[in-house]
Amino acid sequence: MEPLFDGHGRKIGDLRVSVTDRCNFRCQYCMPADGLPWLEREQILSFEEIERLVDLMVRMGVGDVRLTGGEPLVRREFPLLAAMLGRIPGLRDLSLTTNGYLLERDAAALADAGINRVNVSIDSLQRDRFFQITRRDALPRVLAGLEAVASHPELRPVKVNALGIRGFTEQEILPFAEFARTTGFEVRFIEFMPLDADHEWEPEKVLTGEEIRLEIERHFPLVELEREPSATARVYRFADGAGTVGFVNPVSEPFCSDCNRIRLTAEGKLRTCLFSLNETDLRDPLRAGADDEELEALIRGAVARKELKHRVNEPGFIQPDRTMSAIGG
Ligand code: SAM
Ligand code: SF4
Repeated sequence: MEPLFDGHGRKIGDLRVSVTDRCNFRCQYCMPADGLPWLEREQILSFEEIERLVDLMVRMGVGDVRLTGGEPLVRREFPLLAAMLGRIPGLRDLSLTTNGYLLERDAAALADAGINRVNVSIDSLQRDRFFQITRRDALPRVLAGLEAVASHPELRPVKVNALGIRGFTEQEILPFAEFARTTGFEVRFIEFMPLDADHEWEPEKVLTGEEIRLEIERHFPLVELEREPSATARVYRFADGAGTVGFVNPVSEPFCSDCNRIRLTAEGKLRTCLFSLNETDLRDPLRAGADDEELEALIRGAVARKELKHRVNEPGFIQPDRTMSAIGG
């Protein structure tokens, strides 16, 4: 099949698939304390439907697929889905983003299913602060999940994602730097984006990657590593050789011009930007019996309209109705 290009000449190679909108955490920057109205079972794509769409997009040149949510591991039989996707010919990399709560249970099954890499989201290494941000007292369990992943050498590299929120993350910077240096997990700081359910995001609440990097540099010199143009993170190694840290700076240093990503929501909407205000439904055509050519035309049409860039820093920016949990971050 012809490769998938958007209307600005960017070749699409990366697909994020949300497998559920549900989650067992209630992170302040993502979900409201009481959760959200969840999708009904029949609204979300079945494993076979996800497999069909991913297979089609892989044939159109998508090489990297990341499974996310909501919390992907709360979807029943999730490792079975991973195994179905892992068998798709042409899929180069199958990865997972998780909050880690169920990783002790699932790490072995995920490795067996052919997941290559796991990112675990942890915003604090202190139990009370972890509770404050996630509204769950779960840090010991998440760290045990991280260890469970580490015990499977086929799941590499293991990354830890920490959000950069002004007024919260400052105290976490050095503990995370030490953590990266001593454990071998790559810690990546991600800037807080306006995708929170409570609409509390403000530009001032973004602790930028550069501010965090400078703070780390005051204690541990860093050396920047080369990166692929489409990579979201700037990655540095500690100059003395002990570990790496990365910075994903979508707000302060947008990387839209090299964006090669699209997203599929749990109910089968194709989104071409985290901040899209429009999306393309694939589920209803799929269920109405559309053949591959028809689905391909819908995907190509949506991708052709992919946004040039996000407008977070511009006056008049409109936050999408969907939260990060309902998009698939
Ligand atoms: N539940 C899984 C987890 O937390 O890793 C996967 C889904 S979660 C939506 C994916 C990533 O999005 C997490 O690393 C989370 O920290 C990040 N995220 C959620 N809300 C965000 C926001 N408002 N700004 C930036 N990142 C956010
Ligand atoms: Fe759940 Fe992940 Fe959102 Fe936290 S960031 S509420 S773990 S979906």
